[in-house]
Amino acid sequence: MTPDIIIRGERVVTTAGVHPASIHVCDGVIAAIKARDEVPGECAVFDAGRSVVMPGQVDTHVHINEPGRTNWEGFETATRAAAAGGVTTLVDMPLNSIPATTTRESLEAKIAAAKGHCWVDVGFWGGVVPGNTPQLRRLWDAGVLGFKCFLIHSGVDEFCHVAEVDLETALAELTALGAVLIVHAELPGPIDEALRKQAAGAASDPRRYSTFLESRPREAENEAVALLMRLLQRLARTVRGTPHAGPWVHVVHHSSADALPLLRKAREDGLPITAETCPHYLRFAAEEIPDGATEFKCCPPIRERENRELLWAALSEGLIEMVVSDHSPCPPELKLREFGDFMRAWGGISSLQLRLPVMWTEAQRRGYGLRELAKWLCSAPAGLVRLRDHKGSISPGCDADLVVWNPEASFRVDSAMLHHRHKLTPYAGEVLSGIVETTFLRGRKIYDGGQFPAGPIGAMLKRGNP
Ligand SMILES: [Zn+2]
Repeated sequence: MTPDIIIRGERVVTTAGVHPASIHVCDGVIAAIKARDEVPGECAVFDAGRSVVMPGQVDTHVHINEPGRTNWEGFETATRAAAAGGVTTLVDMPLNSIPATTTRESLEAKIAAAKGHCWVDVGFWGGVVPGNTPQLRRLWDAGVLGFKCFLIHSGVDEFCHVAEVDLETALAELTALGAVLIVHAELPGPIDEALRKQAAGAASDPRRYSTFLESRPREAENEAVALLMRLLQRLARTVRGTPHAGPWVHVVHHSSADALPLLRKAREDGLPITAETCPHYLRFAAEEIPDGATEFKCCPPIRERENRELLWAALSEGLIEMVVSDHSPCPPELKLREFGDFMRAWGGISSLQLRLPVMWTEAQRRGYGLRELAKWLCSAPAGLVRLRDHKGSISPGCDADLVVWNPEASFRVDSAMLHHRHKLTPYAGEVLSGIVETTFLRGRKIYDGGQFPAGPIGAMLKRGNP
């Protein structure tokens, strides 16, 4: 069968390594990977030359906010930014949209809002909130890729956080379904305590980053991870001997290096708990954040330099398996930039389009290569949402989702080049290595040197029907 298109290059990142190859694409799927010059004469060929050909990135942590808060971010703007950043699959978070994705009907409303407006493939997380256990199976059957909950106020009132008792009920149901639960792992106790101390002490300046950092101490994360481990130990006992695979819990946007020994212990004990972190925790350091620069505010917070290097070590060790954006934008006025008030500003960092160059810049500096990058940005996140057979790697049978980029070129981030709805980002002005040139979705060019030639051809990814 003659391929529809062949994409070839001298540096193709496959599971076997980085090597010259030609990728033969039939009906949007990778049919074969052959020698670079093994190309039938009549076939369309895209030659990447010396540019890297990597799997299209999978970003499982994106807040799109549509419907309901489309003025914060929407499917159209987010997925164009994704395409321009070499992301071909993203999974939308269940909160910040109105309604939140906590019922089957709200999932349907979200899919209706997304359909026909996506430049890349989009999947959905369902939400676990107090009292919605009966909805979990309905959401699962309707195609969510997994579920998310918060252990602390989520920032929006429509998405309530769960207590230990809710979590236990929900986990029993998710275990029966075989669904992963991703958790915003901060507990309110240590944060309330820190705020009480701040209120009782000498007035602390809300324009200083250290004031905000002190208010979100590492203990909040450490205690949350410990709670998850306790729950898993209990549940693992109750499911032992049954056909269930047991619950699977994944910690999102992990920031506290102090909890890493706990995660290591969980792994040694065979507890099903995994973790991700984000580019901002791996690039920035609390010591360097200027007063009033609320574009750096997110929860949990960016911590100290020493913490950052321990996160890198955990990534290298495989204790943290993936790096996802946690793109969580808002209208710039909610960042209260003119007051520079860290305590009152919305927490969330806008970065969907920039994950690849941020990670490449920092990875290269520490001696990591393209294979590690592809694991952290592509195959590991695809595994989290069980899309590994279709997404996140260049191998036969996978969708021909590819990003072609120049790892030697660098650029200065100019807000005008960002396709996010709002341009405020802590990366503005930063010099980054790695320029995305062309992005393919199922063998079709969706981004090419600033143009979006294919239109909104992104599919809705539903569980069991990828
Ligand atoms: Zn998030």
